[in-house]
Amino acid sequence: MSHYLLLKQHVVTFYIVLLCTHFFIDSVANANENDRADSIISLFKTNKPASAQQANNLLHELENLLTSDDLARQKELIRLRCWNQKTDTNEQISAAIAYADKQLVRFSAEAPSPTTIDLTICKTAYQRYLGQVATTLQDLTQAINQAYDIEAPLLIAHGRSQRGALHSYQGNYSASLEDLLAAQEYYESQNLSYWANINLGELAASYRRFGDAKTALRYQLQLADIYAKQGNQAEANYVNIQIASSLEQLGQLEEANQRYQSSQQFFSGSQPVMAADMSMNIANNLITLGQYQQALSLLQQAATVITPDYNAPYSFLQLYLANAQLKLNHYPASLEALQKAENAFQIDKNQRGLIQVQELRSDVYAASENWQDAYFALHDHLELHLAQDKTVLTKLNAELQTRFDTDRIKHENSLLLQRAKDKETQLILSQRNQTMQIIIIALVGVILILVSIFAYKQRHGKHQFKKLAFTDELTQIANRREAYMQAEQWFALSQKHHKAFSLISFDADHFKGVNDKFGHDIGDKVLIHLASIASDLIRKDDLVGRVGGEEFIIVLPNSDIHVAQDIANRLLRRIEQYDWSLISSGLKLTASAGVVSYQNEHSLSELLLKADKALYAAKSAGRNKVEVA
Ligand code: GH3
Ligand code: MG
Ligand code: MG
Repeated sequence: MSHYLLLKQHVVTFYIVLLCTHFFIDSVANANENDRADSIISLFKTNKPASAQQANNLLHELENLLTSDDLARQKELIRLRCWNQKTDTNEQISAAIAYADKQLVRFSAEAPSPTTIDLTICKTAYQRYLGQVATTLQDLTQAINQAYDIEAPLLIAHGRSQRGALHSYQGNYSASLEDLLAAQEYYESQNLSYWANINLGELAASYRRFGDAKTALRYQLQLADIYAKQGNQAEANYVNIQIASSLEQLGQLEEANQRYQSSQQFFSGSQPVMAADMSMNIANNLITLGQYQQALSLLQQAATVITPDYNAPYSFLQLYLANAQLKLNHYPASLEALQKAENAFQIDKNQRGLIQVQELRSDVYAASENWQDAYFALHDHLELHLAQDKTVLTKLNAELQTRFDTDRIKHENSLLLQRAKDKETQLILSQRNQTMQIIIIALVGVILILVSIFAYKQRHGKHQFKKLAFTDELTQIANRREAYMQAEQWFALSQKHHKAFSLISFDADHFKGVNDKFGHDIGDKVLIHLASIASDLIRKDDLVGRVGGEEFIIVLPNSDIHVAQDIANRLLRRIEQYDWSLISSGLKLTASAGVVSYQNEHSLSELLLKADKALYAAKSAGRNKVEVA
């Protein structure tokens, strides 16, 4: 019993462990499966598998990885299935559209979601294959608007890329370029190079249709190079067809036909419609080259594949057929084909095609000498052409054509960047310059101040020096040197112009006694006062100088002997009358003077000597006297 219980317990434990292990392994396996599923989904989003077979295998793998309750990933699978349908035959295309419709019905109750929008865009891609341009545009525009509503940028880009291609096909270039450029901008910003390349091909085609085959060719050759390097033969061949179209437009018809032929060979097995389309293009060029019969048989061959179901290529097929028939002078056959072409172009609202139909129709009537109809056809043609011109030559078009030149824009952007950098550098430099300027100004200021101080000191020093050199230190009047120099100048002038010139030489009487009695300091004060008394007496041009200890000279230009004598007398009186006791009590002072006037002496010293003699004469005569020489 106990053994049985124990066993039962063991079995239960075992089961529990087994169950846990199972769940654990299950969840790990699920995690691994989900990772793989996500990687497949993201692979499809960034790239397209190299072949339809490979795409199919991957989708099959994805389907097996997903559990039925994983709704989110199931939706992704449905979207991918829609985009990876076969499109080789008309039936396959119709089946692809039917698949999209069926899925859309499944989600029709829901509000627009990434799934329904993507399915609609996918569906329109197939509708486009059938050349149902007008209805496709409506569906596509609705899907794009919904993508904007739910803010799904990738879906907006896919939708607009596709709509841009349709607009371009219709000849609505401004709308086309606006869509394609918006898509291109998004793809490039998200590094979705696969989609960017596809879209760039559409842009190039649009540019070619717009009339600039040269630029289109440049982009197409770049793209062909990209696909060749990737080994993506299908895309390389699609681009090759685009290149051929551009060459055709540039008038290089033989080279264009060679390229069409090589792509035709590539697509002949897998895509008969595409191959027939190439035949049409080749035939069209053969007509231009004058090989009408050969062109006609190629077109008739293509007509077996391109039925009215493929409206877009069918319209052009009929147009080319009409042209070939016209050239071979089969007018009724030509008109019949033109009617078919017109109907088909009407369905697609293809203005470009309708213009060509009317032009050709006019040619047919003219060739068959039906002038009236030729006139009406031509009239219609012109009207269409003018309407087309009006839409084409809008401002927007011109603007977009400029915007489309991405190389130029890139170049301009790099120039702008460079300019911004230059400005930055200039700013830094100017800021540095400003700092330098401030430093320089400050330095110059400091230098100026230093120089000014130095100059001031120099001047001041010089002035001081001058003062020292010409001034008597005690009395602050002219010293002996200065007094004689001034006297010399006046003497020379008097000599030259015979002008009056006089000198007074005066000397303090018994000055030795003043020093002895009152002290040397008082003596000095007396000398200062004597200089001051003499200075007060003289006029502006006159000069007093101290020429010895207590001996002075007064230089009197423009004064004759009488004036000089008068001055000398006044001087002695003032000296005598001055209250010398103010300096020291009991002090008294007189002075003696010798006066002399210029009388054709040869030199100043001669005159000075005469003055000295007169002074001594005054001393000898008892002092406090003026003696005239
Ligand atoms: P006389 O009337 O004949 O001129 O007699 P004097 O004493 O004035 O003349 P003397 O030439 O004999 O003496 C001049 C004196 O002047 C001698 C000198 O001590 C004095 N003396 C010269 N220079 C100075 C000076 O700068 N300051 C003072 N205090 N005395 C001076
Ligand atoms: Mg004296
Ligand atoms: Mg003396």
